[in-house]
Formats: sequence, C-alpha cells, structure tokens
Amino acid sequence: MKASAFSYARATSVGNALELLAVYGDGAKVLSGGQSLMPAMNLRLISPELLVDISDLAELRGIELVGGVLRIGALTRHVELLNSSEIAAQAPLLTDAIAHVAHPAIRNRGTLGGSLAHADPASELPACMLALNATVIVRGQAGERRIAAVDFFTGIYETALSADELLVAVELPVARKDSVHFFHEFARRHGDYAIVGVAAQAIVQANAFAGLRIALFAVGDRPALAKAAARLINVPVTPTVLSEAAAALADELDPQEDQQASAAMRRHLAKVLLVRGVSALLGRPELAGVLA
Ligand SMILES: Cc1cc2nc3c(=O)[nH]c(=O)nc-3n(C[C@H](O)[C@H](O)[C@H](O)COP(=O)(O)OP(=O)(O)OC[C@H]3O[C@@H](n4cnc5c(N)ncnc54)[C@H](O)[C@@H]3O)c2cc1C
Repeated sequence: MKASAFSYARATSVGNALELLAVYGDGAKVLSGGQSLMPAMNLRLISPELLVDISDLAELRGIELVGGVLRIGALTRHVELLNSSEIAAQAPLLTDAIAHVAHPAIRNRGTLGGSLAHADPASELPACMLALNATVIVRGQAGERRIAAVDFFTGIYETALSADELLVAVELPVARKDSVHFFHEFARRHGDYAIVGVAAQAIVQANAFAGLRIALFAVGDRPALAKAAARLINVPVTPTVLSEAAAALADELDPQEDQQASAAMRRHLAKVLLVRGVSALLGRPELAGVLA
C-alpha cells in the first residue's frame, strides 16, 4: 500500500519546525528517521497532511558530557549510540540495549527521539530511560519543558508531548563507579520487538542493593518501573526475599494478551527476568534458580 498524499517541508531550524507544527497542529507529523512513521503511513494507519522533516537540524544531533550529565540530541541515530565510546563508558546499559533494537539497516536511520516519541510499549529505549532516570527535554513555541522519563510515557504510542512540540534531547545522570546494569529481552528472533524485556541499573554496596531501578517493557501499555524492586533494597537478598519480590511483581503487572503471548506467559517471563537480573546484578548465580 502507499501513503495518502501529503505535503512535505524540510525544517531549516528548530524555530521553523515549531512554527509549522503550530500552524498545522494535529495535521502535521515530525519526520526523523522515518523507520516507524513511514511504515505507519504506508499502511494508512495515519495520514498526516504535512510532514515536517527535522533530519537536517544538526543542533538536535550529538552526545555531550557536561558536569556529570550526558545530553543526547533527539536526532542521534541508534547506530551512533551503539558505537559511542562515551555512551559505553557513561551509560553502558544503552549500549547493551541498542544491540536489540531492530536490525542494522533500521539502526542506521532510526533516532533516539523518534523511538521515545513513538512510544511503542515493546521498545527497548523507553524502558532504558526509566532505568537510567532520564529527563526528556521538549520544546514548543512557549519554551522548553523538562519531563522525567517516568512521566513521559502515558500509554500505547502516547506521550506527554503535545502536537506542537518537538522532543529535542534527553539527559542522563552518568553511571556511578559502583553501578551495575542488566538488559535482557525475550523475542522470537534477535531484532524483533520484545515479548517481554527488562532494563535495570543498580548500585551494589557490600553485596546488597543500595539502589535498584528495574524497568520492564512489553508487559503493559507503557514501560514501567517495578515497584517490587523496593523489597530488594538495603536487605540481604535471600532466595525467599527474591521469590517474594517475583510474586509481588507478577501481582503489580497488567500485561496485554496478543498473538505473541498470553498475559500469564508475560507475567511468568517478567518474573524470570527479575530473578535473572537480580542474580546477575549481585553476581550470585545461585539465585537464578529460585523459581525452579
Ligand atoms: C522492521 C522494523 C523493526 C523494528 N524493530 C524495533 C525494535 O525491535 N525495537 C524498537 O524499539 N524499535 C524498532 N523499530 C522502530 C525503529 O527503532 C524506529 O527507528 C524508531 O522507533 C523511530 O525512530 P525514527 O527516528 O525512525 O522515528 P520516525 O519514524 O521518524 O518517527 C516516529 C514517531 O515519532 C515522532 N517523532 C520523531 N521524532 C520526533 C521528535 N524529535 N519530536 C517529536 N516527535 C517526533 C514522529 O512524528 C512519529 O510519530 C523497528 C522498525 C522496523 C521498520
């Protein structure tokens, strides 16, 4: 199928893009890498009147480390994140996660901002933003808003962005020296969207969690931080404590059923990921078997 007829404008500056979005409102769509937008248009799931192509706006691209904060421009492509030594050193969770996002051809065009604005609940990067405690920066004609990642994703393909705003960047606190991370997803094939996935970052001191952020994806209408993680902080993590946390996680989730998995299977896989993640983060392989 082909997309419905649409007009096209190549934005010359962020201000120019914002003017176009303000004039067309819901009738306009921002075009970044086009890896989600173009398929949706070709399937006629959406038919925007105008595409505002921001891909030439160099000010929205790049990775910068300023005073303990990593700022990543919205137009930074997946492949640039994957190959960045700065990301590998300061936010290694992202390096691990990006390798699971689609395939090289898509990673060559797809952007961080596009992935976050698209807000597919099965996407890897939105969950990473929660685990890394990111701030999403959006700009409209009235100025900039800074939104905690945990408040940015509001539903299936829904975010706190208004139709007349651009996602311009993301800021991440750099990983501490004593932080550890874990990323894993179950998917039919490497590169497919996840059936269930987890992105986690923790501070481990004296063999216990001093901090733990576990974000799950593909188990609800948006990525979510596991509340059950609180049961594992500042306590000795015994097999009983961990299996109770896994049971609490299953209770807090409300996964969807689709052609890939039932809700019960997703709940089970989320428990498996929690247990494997905690075992890996603490470097205690004996904990991996607590659900057996
Ligand atoms: C076969 C295939 C497999 C894929 N597998 C995966 C996968 O496993 N995991 C995964 O996470 N993704 C996957 N994707 C999606 C891919 O990662 C996309 O690149 C990404 O989701 C969107 O990035 P983009 O730059 O291409 O955005 P676009 O397609 O250009 O835009 C996506 C949406 O975000 C909006 N948007 C884009 N940029 C901005 C901005 N700066 N401000 C405001 N709104 C904006 C657009 O208007 C549009 O609604 C897959 C895609 C394909 C085609």
